[in-house]
Amino acid sequence: MAQRVAVNDGAAGSRRTSRVRVAVRLRPYMDKQDEKGEGPCVRGLGPQKLEIINWRNATETLQYQFDVFHGEQTTQQEVFLTSVKPILPHILNGQNASVFAYGPTGAGKTHTMLGSQEHPGIIPRAVKEVFKLVEAQEKEQDGWEYSISMSYLEIYNEKVLDLLSPGSQDLPIREDKDRNILIPGLTHTPLSSFTDFDTHFIPASLNRTTASTKLNQRSSRSHAILLIKVVKSRHGPPRRQQTGKLYLVDLAGSEDNRRTGNQGIRLKESGAINLSLFTLSKVVDALNAGAGGRVPYRDSKLTRLLQDSLGGSAHSVMITNIAPEYTYYFDTFSALNFAAKSKQIVNRPFVRETVLAPTIGPGKRAREEPEAGGSGEPQNKRSKERKKAEQSSSPPVHPHSSPESSVMDRLLALEKMMMGSAERERLNLLKTVAQSRKEIQMLKEKQKELEDKANVFKQNEAIEKESKDALLFKTDLPPLHRKQSTAAKPRKQQAVVTPLQVSQVQPLQQCAVVCKPSQFLDKKKKRIQTEVCEGKENGGVDPLPADVVNWETHLDSALLEQSRKKILQTLNSGSLKELKSLQLIGDKKAKLIMGWREIHGDFTQLEDLTKIEGITAKRFSSFIKANILSSMGK
Ligand code: ADP
Ligand code: MG
Repeated sequence: MAQRVAVNDGAAGSRRTSRVRVAVRLRPYMDKQDEKGEGPCVRGLGPQKLEIINWRNATETLQYQFDVFHGEQTTQQEVFLTSVKPILPHILNGQNASVFAYGPTGAGKTHTMLGSQEHPGIIPRAVKEVFKLVEAQEKEQDGWEYSISMSYLEIYNEKVLDLLSPGSQDLPIREDKDRNILIPGLTHTPLSSFTDFDTHFIPASLNRTTASTKLNQRSSRSHAILLIKVVKSRHGPPRRQQTGKLYLVDLAGSEDNRRTGNQGIRLKESGAINLSLFTLSKVVDALNAGAGGRVPYRDSKLTRLLQDSLGGSAHSVMITNIAPEYTYYFDTFSALNFAAKSKQIVNRPFVRETVLAPTIGPGKRAREEPEAGGSGEPQNKRSKERKKAEQSSSPPVHPHSSPESSVMDRLLALEKMMMGSAERERLNLLKTVAQSRKEIQMLKEKQKELEDKANVFKQNEAIEKESKDALLFKTDLPPLHRKQSTAAKPRKQQAVVTPLQVSQVQPLQQCAVVCKPSQFLDKKKKRIQTEVCEGKENGGVDPLPADVVNWETHLDSALLEQSRKKILQTLNSGSLKELKSLQLIGDKKAKLIMGWREIHGDFTQLEDLTKIEGITAKRFSSFIKANILSSMGK
């Protein structure tokens, strides 16, 4: 990878497989990202090299070499001129190109791709340049006519969504007989000038960040893909046409959401992000290995879409964005390993004067890293998660340290293996390491629980001093356990019941306004609403009233089935307004339903509703009853 210069390869008109040029951009250090004031953990060493502290030993660094390294002071213009501008002329010759920004959230991908008004990024600069190149060609009157168009799409949860036509469904990706990738149904907006581009792009970008479901940080979990197409035609004879595509991609954050314990993210969503990024890494790897082996484009939507613009005769640049603060250490480390897969990691002793290391758990580290002088320094170089896990172990005395140390041993053994194993296996091992850390965390929690129990026991023991019979120990322990578990339960129940009652009242109040009084069913309907509105539910333990359970038996089964189908249809394709028109569904629930739909696809049966947060079995029964009766009553 390091020896290749893609720009010249392409200029020579070679049909050889292009490799992916890899640039790394380090964003400036930010105080606010470094609460502990630990300083940076990465720094540049030259136009192609950087080093990062070795988290196993703070007196060493790991050095990486890339095609280009953009240091903290690099301007947007410099990044554009070095990494992007040289590949743009190929678009006018019917060749494809792609530029993508990779890296953890907060490391500068959007800054690099989009930038700001004062510091415009690659996207505006590249589009401007394409217009400039086309104008220059047109002036030469070479007999070709050029037209430029744009498409803007997002891959979210392995779904392809058109950002220029909001509300459109998942679009298919196809391949024509010439192996060009097409997306039937995708909007192609013709552009006559750069101002024209801005007019379409800005609202679509906003549209991306304020997506309908308003799921938190959605934009950092989706891949935003801008396509600029240049079609060049000659009326002939013979009539000829060439199409060049330029993909400008702001990838989803590369941090492992499962590892970082991201509460808001659902497993499927996290898996989808990781799937496309994981596949991208395999594709880049396969292309840069250059052995002509299978490139797994089809394994994810992202790589499938980029298939004709990544590898082959295309020109591709990956800009890996990294952040210098320790908070990002683990993600930076994985991002660098992703970017530098086929590179040699240089590892040599290095004395860092800038390491300011408040100590954490010296006892444990002394065992781990005797060469680090037992100062505990290396721990500060670890991921935030790891720090958290280990902070709770800071007391030097550990009555239950043996299970932990066995995990710790495993962890160390894994780390050792990792350092000596093949590059490809590294990521897997890193995952296992993360898993082991989780186990440590669990053990700590368990230990704390046991210690708490022991403390309570000690207090009881003090109170009941007079009874020193050894049996007391035996007989008292079980009640202590029971006491804890029975004491915990009602508290838990209370915590569950309160929000249930609150959230239930809201949609029903809305419903009371929405419902039209009609026919004989109204009375019954009102009764159900009142039952739920009055908050009779107490954590779902009350049996349902007989008429709530058996009401369906009074109705015609065909009609019943029809109503259920209608409701299902509304759930699957209804707009927010239509969802809110359902009985017992307020704004919040309607949005939750839309969010669920987006992530999991269609509801296969009405009962799937119970998978949505806050829709208990009882509330679901009330929902079904109210809606079926309402649809029949209308
Ligand atoms: P990402 O898209 O990777 O999540 P952002 O581009 O949003 O990250 O960057 C996070 C923050 O850092 C933003 O406030 C951004 O303006 C700032 N930033 C990123 N890179 C740079 C840079 N090279 N110079 C100055 N500020 C930067
Ligand atoms: Mg971003």
